[in-house]
Amino acid sequence: MTNKKDIRSLTADELREYFLSIGQAKYRADQVYQWLWQKAAHSFEDMSNLSKELRGTLEEHFMFHELSVHTRQKSTDGTIKYAFKLSDGNMVEGVLIPTAKRLTACISTQVGCSLACEFCATGKLKRMRNLAYSEIYDQVAVINEEAKAEYGKGLTNIVYMGMGEPLLNYKNTMESVAKITQEEGLHMAAKRITISTAGIAKQIKQMGDDGSRVKLALSLHAANDEKRNSIMAINESNNLEVLAEALNYYYTKTQQAVTFEYIIFKDFNDSIDDAKDLLNFCRKVPSKVNIIEYNDVEGTPFKKADQDKVDAFAAYLEDRGVIAKVRRSRGKDIDAACGQLANKEG
Ligand code: SF4
Repeated sequence: MTNKKDIRSLTADELREYFLSIGQAKYRADQVYQWLWQKAAHSFEDMSNLSKELRGTLEEHFMFHELSVHTRQKSTDGTIKYAFKLSDGNMVEGVLIPTAKRLTACISTQVGCSLACEFCATGKLKRMRNLAYSEIYDQVAVINEEAKAEYGKGLTNIVYMGMGEPLLNYKNTMESVAKITQEEGLHMAAKRITISTAGIAKQIKQMGDDGSRVKLALSLHAANDEKRNSIMAINESNNLEVLAEALNYYYTKTQQAVTFEYIIFKDFNDSIDDAKDLLNFCRKVPSKVNIIEYNDVEGTPFKKADQDKVDAFAAYLEDRGVIAKVRRSRGKDIDAACGQLANKEG
């Protein structure tokens, strides 16, 4: 074990202060910051515009936590799933999803997840720990490089929908967003980033208070409490009424409508009565709906809904003025689709 501090845990100001304390000019700190967050240096040795002596001083006092690609699986539809190995040996997964117009990275915020939603493969893994913001950022940086190599251009969108509940790792999630959007980082527009939550009302309000500019998605999957309790235990402490109140607060603060993610399961939440519940909930909160087709996950009783039911469900909502789109899951053959990330190799 090393006692050296991870240099990437320092803010730009802290780094400048450190450089002044060792008699170096401030602009040197800015150069290092750029190497760390923009130029994706892998070591102090890479920082070629610093003197050998300065690189040696940094090496003596600091270290880097790096994440590495452990495995890479490409689906027949072009989706690529990555298993990332963290510095302590834990693994998380990320996905690159190419479509005609977009290159989207889906990334993780925790090792495992504590919420144990019934339909989710990640929920079957115990939550081990939160990711540091640099570990969240690195997934994006690596997938961005992969996108350029594989598809000739960088990422257009990022979704925090991989392993873990982002709002239960709020500080690191938001700091990773800051790094992704800052000029010395990937300089992506906040509106191209979506944070998806299972519904932590307190943190949704916090996002509002913090003036968050990213998009917010709520994994809803059922719009009546009894049903939602049966698949998402978090609903018992953050029920629909509490969530509606938090989302309206968030809307007042940010003027941003939420997207409800609704995985449609055969004979569970695919009837017109279910669509009515969803319509009623949509009327309480400025929102739109993504209806997501399900991929069977081993060890869960859920099945993919029939196509005619999905179409009727979507039509019911659209006919009543709700913006509802049906989304096909991607990367099914490699377990990269929604709710399937579970560190399964091979
Ligand atoms: S759906 Fe999200 S919140 Fe629920 S168990 Fe899976 S990763 Fe956790």
